[in-house]
This record gives sequence, structure tokens and C-alpha cells, in this order.
Amino acid sequence: MGYQEILQYIYNETLQLSHIGEPASYIPELRKVNPNQYGICLKTLEGKTYCVGDSQEAFAIQSIAKVFALAMAFHIKGERLWERVGVEPSGSAFNSVIQLEMEKGIPRNPLINAGALVISDILLSELDYPEEQFLKFVQELCGDSDIRYNESMAVSERENGFLNAAIANMLKYYGNIENDIERVLRFYFRQCSLTMNCQQLASAFMAFANHKKKFEYFQTSLTGSQVKRINAIMQTCGFYDEAGDFSFKVGLPGKSGVGGGIAAICPRKYAIAVWSPRLNKKGNSVMGMKALELLTTKTEESIF
Ligand code: GLU
Repeated sequence: MGYQEILQYIYNETLQLSHIGEPASYIPELRKVNPNQYGICLKTLEGKTYCVGDSQEAFAIQSIAKVFALAMAFHIKGERLWERVGVEPSGSAFNSVIQLEMEKGIPRNPLINAGALVISDILLSELDYPEEQFLKFVQELCGDSDIRYNESMAVSERENGFLNAAIANMLKYYGNIENDIERVLRFYFRQCSLTMNCQQLASAFMAFANHKKKFEYFQTSLTGSQVKRINAIMQTCGFYDEAGDFSFKVGLPGKSGVGGGIAAICPRKYAIAVWSPRLNKKGNSVMGMKALELLTTKTEESIF
């Protein structure tokens, strides 16, 4: 079976789950999204693209944006990045405050909210026009200048982002935020509001599947070692407190978002993005998880 037949098989199989789970509702703008949309796009290193379903419908990538921010900050700061954020799975919810207090303001990893707020703070200190430069970076990663922030999503999240504000305040208390808290939150929420479709997301994630891909924006590429580390963090921390389960069932580095998207890569083979807004209790897309499990089972291609 080729990838197109496999995607079609997966799509048909997973449709049985289409009524399971609920879309995220804690961000009012996310409630407006039709929960019955479902798309998949896979891109290979040889340059082939395979899509099924609503792969051209754009959605808020939410936490998947944390991977792009991490790549940018890691490229700029190198190993010094790890002085301010760890690389251990949290085993807690993505927006947990308890662990941050116990560990005195050093977030467990860059893919939970506390870690992403520290990364946002670093980018604010390092870049002249953080929002513009971040957007340009992602646009260039996927070779598409149509990608935009969803401003009403960002505003809607800021108006209701009390827990993220609490996390930012605690980070500031422990001296792990340099900039104004409000500025950090606004930048973080704009990253989360970034709106992309499955095809664009798969293109952008080729940077992590293909160790040789140049990051046009920097006129250079991440080193092989940096890509390895970003993939390792995605593998161990990319799925909230369900990272172990995702590793167990799927076996690919990836990152999910509460908008219902999941992006994942098979090193040196392909990048894939799946989107379906209905989430399980841990905040991961029900159909997205199942689709990727079927993909690696059917193709027998995973990192394990
Ligand atoms: N903007 C969301 C939040 O901070 C992102 C969460 C996610 O996608 O995991 O709550």
C-alpha cells in the first residue's frame, strides 16, 4: 500500500470515532469551530504530498507553536537555553502551577505552558520585532507567506487566560521572566493563535524530519544535534501528561495542541499533520491520536 491508500484507510477507520470527545471550550473563540472537521496531510522527504479530508482548512495550532518558538530560541541561545528551562517530561497537565512552585520557577520543559512562557520571554529579549519575526520564521519554514495570527483568538485567550497569567506571575517571582508579564502573555497567546492547515503544518515540520533543511530565516540550519534534541523533547514531552501513551502507541516525536491539531515526524522519512477538534480528557485529539497509531502500525515506520 502507498501512503495515499494508507491515509484513506486510516481516514475511513477512524471516522467511527468522530462523535467521541469534546472540543476545547476554555478559549471562547475555539468554541466557534465546527468540531466535525477532520484532515490529514503527510509530506515525504522526496517531496511528495498526500492528503485526505479537510487538510486545507486552517485552525489555531495552539501548543504546536511551542515547537517553533523552541527552535527559534534554541538557535539563538544554543546550550545556554537550558539554564532557564529543563528537558524532563512533566507528567502533569500542560498548565499545572504546582510543579513550578516546587521547582522554584524552572519549568520542566519548553512544551508545557510555563516553559513556553520562558521561551517567549527569551525571544522578547532577543528579537527587535518578536511577533513579526516569529511569524516570518514560521512562514519561511513552510514556504507560505499566507500564514497569519488569529487576532480574535489571541484576544479571547488573553481575556480568559487567568491560569497562564498565574504561571507568568510565578515565573516572574522566581526571577525567570525578564520582560513585563503582560507583554510576555500577549506574545505567547499570539503564537498560540497562529492559524495553519494540515498541509502547511506538515511542510513546517519537515524541518524536524530532515536534518539538512535550511531555516531560511536564519540563512542557516539548526545543527543535527539541535534537531535531535528538539525531537527528543517532542518525544518525551509533546503530549501533555499523555506523552508516554503517545510514545507507546505511535512511536513518533510530535506535538499536539488544544485546537485539535497534532504534528509529528518520522526522522528522515516524513512529516505529518492531523487535525480533528474533538479532544480526549488529556487535551489530545481523539481521531488524531488514533490516526497516527494506525499509520505507524500499518507502515511499520516509527522510531522504535
Ligand atoms: N493557548 C493554550 C493555553 O495556553 C495552549 C494549550 C495547548 O494547546 O496545549 O492554554
